[in-house]
Amino acid sequence: MRPQADPHDIVVIGAGIVGIAIAACLSEAGRNVLVIDRQGICEGTSAGNAGALAFSDILPMASKGILAKVPGWLMDPLGPFTIRPSYLPKLAPWLYRFWRASRADMLERTIEAQGAMMGLAEPEMLGLMARAGLRDMIREDGSLELYESEEELNTALPGWMARKRAGIAFEHLRGEQLAACQPGLASRFVVGTFVPGWKTVSDPQHVGKGLWDYVQRLGAGFVKAKVDSVSAQKNHATAHLSDGSTVSASKLIIAAGAWSHRLAKEMGDVIPLETERGYNTTLPVGAFDLKRQLIFSGHGFVVTPLETGVRIGGAVELGGLDLPPNYRRSEAMLMKAQKFMPGLETGGGRQWMGYRPSLPDSLPAIGYSGTSKNVLYAFGHGHLGLTQSAATGRLVTDLVGGKEPSISIEPFYPQRF
Ligand SMILES: Cc1cc2nc3c(=O)[nH]c(=O)nc-3n(C[C@H](O)[C@H](O)[C@H](O)COP(=O)(O)OP(=O)(O)OC[C@H]3O[C@@H](n4cnc5c(N)ncnc54)[C@H](O)[C@@H]3O)c2cc1C
Repeated sequence: MRPQADPHDIVVIGAGIVGIAIAACLSEAGRNVLVIDRQGICEGTSAGNAGALAFSDILPMASKGILAKVPGWLMDPLGPFTIRPSYLPKLAPWLYRFWRASRADMLERTIEAQGAMMGLAEPEMLGLMARAGLRDMIREDGSLELYESEEELNTALPGWMARKRAGIAFEHLRGEQLAACQPGLASRFVVGTFVPGWKTVSDPQHVGKGLWDYVQRLGAGFVKAKVDSVSAQKNHATAHLSDGSTVSASKLIIAAGAWSHRLAKEMGDVIPLETERGYNTTLPVGAFDLKRQLIFSGHGFVVTPLETGVRIGGAVELGGLDLPPNYRRSEAMLMKAQKFMPGLETGGGRQWMGYRPSLPDSLPAIGYSGTSKNVLYAFGHGHLGLTQSAATGRLVTDLVGGKEPSISIEPFYPQRF
């Protein structure tokens, strides 16, 4: 790309679902947007996730009874939560903050902030999809979270009570009701909690690419390039590309997923972003007659009906951005799914790994850089980037337009750590 004479209006770095949704909201507001990504449109983590619009998922990772389970899980190198041993020294500060985020007073504030974000996320996502002509890509058949004993359900009850207080509807099903909600499950699952308001998409990559078609129709542009660094000047900010050229804009928005902290550091902001790597296998369409998304939270994975197949995956691997994937994790979840859903056809699957961009308190970073109002951050959505993408687009558009956001963005300040 050649150096340009005049700054663009807005440049967004990152064409994952968050960058695309930001570009959509800004373009709708009449702004002139250029998106830069080294891979293409919705080719990375946003392409292969589990496709849930998890508007009721307001509990931070640090609260889901995870800390109690971690020691047991760590014993299993292919279990739901692993730390790659060689990465542990680098991870220690993030783990410490993760542990602090589990304190009762912190949890209460985080759940409140996440609840407010979800209150915005649902109407924003449904509205954006409708305006883009993609509303039929959203399935509204709820989710079913499965438990192997009443005791396991009892352990999860405080979390369900917190959701109840937030107005989220659910129902615990047993016996015939459970079998009717999802036929063909192994008998080890004795209780299932049905959440009717949970939604999924037909395929997350189709959603990203479909939204991008809409953004393009609104006039936005795209450049395929790697951004090496960013800098801010008095009236604009500049992205420095790996071919030596530069792109300037009155506002530069960093929405580069799990890599965003590297660019934020160039602006003087040290943000404790880590990646929770996740794995899955997508089996051909018809591999199982799934009625809705199934959540095996005790085993750290979900099974999703997509128009492109049956996607089985999840898990958390703390191993940074550079270590090679360990696809035995995809296989381990597939093998478990076969036990849990005995009729599952396991042949012909595609394996995948993605990088969840995660902050220790499970809230995203949305707001200005600490050193310039010409650079904004929108990253760190962890397990919820698809779910919260349109809400993030709205909040960023409000900030750029000088409008008071409809929810407080204080809990999302990038400098809160
Ligand atoms: C197994 C798994 C299951 C998940 N399930 C769900 C789910 O059901 N629901 C949900 O809401 N979320 C889910 N998530 C989380 C969700 O996928 C992420 O939160 C979301 O994709 C993050 O989007 P993003 O746009 O911030 O990042 P990304 O999708 O990672 O996009 C960032 C983009 O920035 C680009 N980039 C980075 N650095 C540079 C650079 N220097 N120069 C140029 N370009 C750059 C990358 O190429 C990439 O395209 C899941 C994640 C995983 C791994």
